[in-house]
Amino acid sequence: MKRDFDLAIVGAGFGGSLMAMIAHQLGLSVVLLEQGRHPRMAIGESTTPLSNLLLERLSTTYDLPRIAPLAKWGSWQRTYPQIACGLKRGFTFFHHEDELLVTASPHDDIADTHWYRADVDHFLVREAQGLGVDYRDRARIETLAFAEEEATLIGRAGEEAFDLHARLLIDATGPRGFLHRSLGLKESPLPGLPPTQSLYSHFTGVTRTETAADAAPYPVDDAAVHHVFEGGWVWVLRFNNGIASAGVAATRRVAEELALSEGEPAWQRLLDRLPQLKSQFKQASACQPFRYMQAVAFRSSTMAGKRWAMLPSAAGFVDPLLSTGFALTLTGIERLAQIIHKHRDSADLAARLQGYAQETDSDLLAASRLIGALYATMADFSSFTAVSLLYFAAVSFAETAHRLGKAELAPGFLLHRHPSFGPASRLLLERAYKPDGAFAADVQRLIEPFNVGGFGDPARHNMYPVRADDLLDAAHKLGASREEIVALLERSGFFAQASVKG
Ligand SMILES: Cc1cc2nc3c(=O)[nH]c(=O)nc-3n(C[C@H](O)[C@H](O)[C@H](O)COP(=O)(O)OP(=O)(O)OC[C@H]3O[C@@H](n4cnc5c(N)ncnc54)[C@H](O)[C@@H]3O)c2cc1C
Repeated sequence: MKRDFDLAIVGAGFGGSLMAMIAHQLGLSVVLLEQGRHPRMAIGESTTPLSNLLLERLSTTYDLPRIAPLAKWGSWQRTYPQIACGLKRGFTFFHHEDELLVTASPHDDIADTHWYRADVDHFLVREAQGLGVDYRDRARIETLAFAEEEATLIGRAGEEAFDLHARLLIDATGPRGFLHRSLGLKESPLPGLPPTQSLYSHFTGVTRTETAADAAPYPVDDAAVHHVFEGGWVWVLRFNNGIASAGVAATRRVAEELALSEGEPAWQRLLDRLPQLKSQFKQASACQPFRYMQAVAFRSSTMAGKRWAMLPSAAGFVDPLLSTGFALTLTGIERLAQIIHKHRDSADLAARLQGYAQETDSDLLAASRLIGALYATMADFSSFTAVSLLYFAAVSFAETAHRLGKAELAPGFLLHRHPSFGPASRLLLERAYKPDGAFAADVQRLIEPFNVGGFGDPARHNMYPVRADDLLDAAHKLGASREEIVALLERSGFFAQASVKG
């Protein structure tokens, strides 16, 4: 068995497998170690336009054409109908009688998806193996040591003992994962974010929403559905195999009131508080054991060293709200791929990895400021909506800028490094903890130069479709001509109406 590698990756979720494939394409020898065995359930399922853009770009840049179809519902259904996923046309929010519907794609063919991770992660690890990545499952690493030039990993994979040496180690094991524990690292706080807990499972028999607004721009269940209440929220994500993922994230106060740690009985108590959800879950039953997380958020005090780095998903996590995890993970994979490509043998590798750690941490903090402000406004839906629009304006502007080849217009996750939007949005997010009467109007004023989706237009009554006209009217905000926007829309399949059945 080979023992010397350029790169060892610990953790074969989608992040580890994708990183392994990319490193292999860059000419590295790669070993990928996984403690479990595929297929297995994993959480973290809902993609976004930004995460799919990143996935598509990684598959093009690193010549992984078999990955590209996963970036859109239509190509996924045509290419890999056997890999379960869900159709995600947008973000649906319910709050008592109020709604907010934000469309993410104009039609199904180019829509986002929810990943049924048991299938997707299994597929990706087989793809990695097919390329030549040395994959070992049931891995237990008993000894980890770093020398000047390499990391040593000693342990067992199933019955097989290993003693591996790698010039670089990437941790893809998720929050509070392998390196955080092995190196005895500390946790850092995520300022502004309340401590939260979570309880979730997969279900069969979840019915669709009965009452949907006539003006809904897409079927409200073909989305990441959020039921928001004071101190928490519930997600419902439907897959095309009859299974739905559902769970709750809640502040400690609400989590303790519901006694989330008790599992299924707590889920029933939660449903009692949310009548619409209760009726949808009347016939439902959990097809996985309930999983309870005592602490959702996490931030490692150290995210990289001289010969190692954590993927963003191992370095930190805020909350599932708004599905920021995949986009952050893929951003980190892209950054690490560039470092590996250009600097793996250079003297400044360690400095580059430190730069990566700083960027990863500042993106995490940007996500945390946003989600902290959303938790602070959960009792007041109009302020919650205003904070959400900061997110939707920033990410749709960033997505358009990237698709126009003008990434420099959108620096940092949620534009947090943008010279005007960054500091001003930070101040507004701080104000969200005590929103005054001018809060929503001030959000509107701030997003206006970045607003490419008609967000906040009172005529839309919290229902935002994707309209070509909005983008065309906003062309000047991106320094683009109308012709460039039309070309962008054509390139991205905006006008194609292929009908796809999942
Ligand atoms: C409740 C919840 C809901 C979420 N929902 C969303 C969402 O809807 N959208 C979104 O974008 N993000 C979401 N996230 C975040 C998302 O889960 C992560 O971004 C994503 O899973 C990262 O993928 P990954 O492959 O890097 O890590 P993971 O999916 O965490 O995979 C880690 C892998 O490492 C393996 N492993 C762990 N320890 C070891 C070890 N010591 N040795 C070897 N192997 C090990 C595990 O078995 C696993 O296979 C959610 C997170 C949570 C907690």
